[in-house]
Amino acid sequence: MSSALASRLATIVGGTRVLSREGELRAYESDGLPGYRARPSIAVFPGSRAEVVAVVRLLAETGSQFVARGAGTGLSGGALAEDVVLLGLHRLRRIVSIDAENARAVVEPGVVNALLTRAAAPYGLYYAPDPSSQTACTIGGNVAENAGGPHCLKYGVTLNHVLALTVVLPNGEVLSLGNAEGEHDGYDFLGAFVGSEGCFGVVLDATVRLLRNPSAIRTLLADFESIGAAARAVSAIIGSGIVAAALEMMDAATIQAVEASIYAAGYPTDAAAILLIELDGALAGLDEDVIRVSQFCRAAGARKVRVAADPDDRARLWQGRKKAFGAMGRVSSHLVVQDAVVPRTRLPEILAKISEIGTRQRVNVCNVFHAGDGNLHPNIGYNANDPDESSRVEVAMREIMRACIEAGGTITGEHGIGLDKLPYMEALFTAPTLGAMCALRDVFDPEHRANPGKVVPVHSCREWHAVPSTRRGAS
Ligand SMILES: Cc1cc2nc3c(=O)[nH]c(=O)nc-3n(C[C@H](O)[C@H](O)[C@H](O)COP(=O)(O)OP(=O)(O)OC[C@H]3O[C@@H](n4cnc5c(N)ncnc54)[C@H](O)[C@@H]3O)c2cc1C
Repeated sequence: MSSALASRLATIVGGTRVLSREGELRAYESDGLPGYRARPSIAVFPGSRAEVVAVVRLLAETGSQFVARGAGTGLSGGALAEDVVLLGLHRLRRIVSIDAENARAVVEPGVVNALLTRAAAPYGLYYAPDPSSQTACTIGGNVAENAGGPHCLKYGVTLNHVLALTVVLPNGEVLSLGNAEGEHDGYDFLGAFVGSEGCFGVVLDATVRLLRNPSAIRTLLADFESIGAAARAVSAIIGSGIVAAALEMMDAATIQAVEASIYAAGYPTDAAAILLIELDGALAGLDEDVIRVSQFCRAAGARKVRVAADPDDRARLWQGRKKAFGAMGRVSSHLVVQDAVVPRTRLPEILAKISEIGTRQRVNVCNVFHAGDGNLHPNIGYNANDPDESSRVEVAMREIMRACIEAGGTITGEHGIGLDKLPYMEALFTAPTLGAMCALRDVFDPEHRANPGKVVPVHSCREWHAVPSTRRGAS
């Protein structure tokens, strides 16, 4: 069956764009969470919108399940395709148009996030959602995950920047959702599709909003002797009504990993925590806000607050933050990154709890996260080939997630549910709510062939597909 399907796919995209040998498929076994492994049966890489539609129609005709994949940087196991077809979209990387006058762009799904901002720069425009993975992740993946990023504190997440989508449903029908003017007519299918994690269909193109570059930017680095003090500074800044463009926190272990890597940014290696705070907008009043933010940091116990001297200094400070997971990856063979949200005012208490869990489970939990949003990213470097360490990591992560839920928080701020967060869905949602999610999925994909077994626990949907047997384990 698999080889017959591979041959038919090859007639659409060409023989070199279909992989079906075990060795070839290994590269697609994992996403950004390397502890999960799941090998697709076939990987197919269409090069145009017409090819994507033809592939999806063939998959519909043959009743084949499939998983769309962008760059594979996802951190919830969402792009894993266990024994089903992997549909790679990275070859669709055309920026179709930039309409500077109306500040919008039309892009194919495989366009890398940072390249859109680069293309918009000559017009004084940029694309605001900036996941730390933006030099690799794709707009299609961002739409599917409703991705965030440091600057989403002020500017909003992907959903706030997508005006329209063209999508192909799993049955092969092509639909337009939303419109370029950003008007909302009828049911908000666009809102439903953004963040649907590849379970509703495949993005063929996206019309996105571009923003004008702010006329002035100030980037501050504040260093603290305790995480609690840094968390108090976050609450004070937010409580004052100043809307920072970004407000990021890194703890000592993360700072040290960054400073020992090629991404060294000049962070103080003896600090318990740093805050990276960005203020932007009109020049008038901006420096007054810098003074007020500095005062809040000092009042909370900051040892030092400095403002980036020039654009190169700013870029260096941001590179350290955005490449922090990469720097952690250098220290250990496997890294698990969690994503949870808590009310900002609970940050000091939850960070203390995370530290206590790490000590008790004998794992090294590091924190680098979007503090202004209360969006935590506890991460643990470990060796997945050590079963004892792996199981302690799993227990620690479960306890952390439970603590976040108990603090009134939720289980994802931006990385999605995918496979990794499935076990927490029933702790957060009632059976009727999960049932409603399944019913919504049925509208787009009644056969549940797109990204099967993800997002909503299988038994909630009474799905007929088995839960993927993929488990976090040795590579
Ligand atoms: C170092 C690092 C830092 C990160 N920082 C952030 C951050 O700051 N903010 C943030 O939000 N995320 C972050 N992420 C997570 C990740 O980059 C985002 O979730 C991103 O949106 C995934 O894009 P991708 O192209 O890699 O998608 P993939 O990982 O390939 O896929 C993710 C999901 O999208 C679906 N999908 C992909 N393409 C399509 C398509 N065309 N149509 C329909 N569904 C599709 C897949 O089926 C899957 O469910 C980070 C990841 C890493 C490794």
